[in-house]
Amino acid sequence: TTYFIDGQFLSKEDVNISIDDRGYYFGDGVYEVIKVYNGSLFTAAEHIARLFQSAQKIKMTIPYSEQQLIDVAKELVKANEISTGHIYLQVTRGAAPRVHQFPDFSVPVVVTGYGLVNPRPTTNLEKGVAVKLVEDVRWLRCDIKSLNLLGNVLAKQEAYEEGCAEAIFVRDGIITEGSSSNLFGMKDGIVYTHPATNLILNGITRQVVLQLCEENGIPVVEKPFTPQEAFEMDELIITSTTAEVTPVIQLDDKEIGTGIPGPITKKLQAAFALRIPAFVTG
Ligand code: PLP
Repeated sequence: TTYFIDGQFLSKEDVNISIDDRGYYFGDGVYEVIKVYNGSLFTAAEHIARLFQSAQKIKMTIPYSEQQLIDVAKELVKANEISTGHIYLQVTRGAAPRVHQFPDFSVPVVVTGYGLVNPRPTTNLEKGVAVKLVEDVRWLRCDIKSLNLLGNVLAKQEAYEEGCAEAIFVRDGIITEGSSSNLFGMKDGIVYTHPATNLILNGITRQVVLQLCEENGIPVVEKPFTPQEAFEMDELIITSTTAEVTPVIQLDDKEIGTGIPGPITKKLQAAFALRIPAFVTG
């Protein structure tokens, strides 16, 4: 595997990260996951733009241009010979003795990345998954794609222990998002999802799905809904870079709709599939 560390492409043995890295101490950093289909990056510009927005929101400056990081991602695809998989990019506030306040601005941020082969989740896409409601105890800046993922990690584990593929967060009686995905519900032909506020990550896949709804004449209302409303939806889906448009067929102990992926879900999956980069020869 080839890794990117601060301007260099290295093999794992040559990677050297400081024990004083603030990502390690505090989760003081941001990251992105970019999907690769057939050797091509998918929505890379959107992911890189969000990485810079996340960095800016935590007052961190990335010493590259957006285009330079897109080129890094492309190089990781090539060096790791990734056909279908993903690129992980991370930026931390550098290495410095452990005190909470920022280090001196002369301390360089640490930019790392790697590529991984990772097939599409075909079984989940076809059959759908079960999900579990979990209380959203995270902080109030869920719009930042930060390395601080303990709330997400604990929720996902709780869901996994009950045989569920994802945890769906509930804050103050409303559904926000999944532990690593966004949630949409369909009722009487209308698609509902939580608006892009500080309480959710505005998923790139979420934005693609909103676009696909518009292109296909499917009405969308960006309005939060309650667990009770979710139980009564005709269809539910979760979306993310790796999960794409995954049908949800069970929420806690209740079957959703008819218990199989519904018609709007299938339409969105088909529309999404048309967006996937095809294999390019030469
Ligand atoms: N919400 C959270 C908390 C996430 O961690 C993620 C992705 O991992 C998403 C939503 C979906 O975002 P995207 O579609 O950009 O992958």
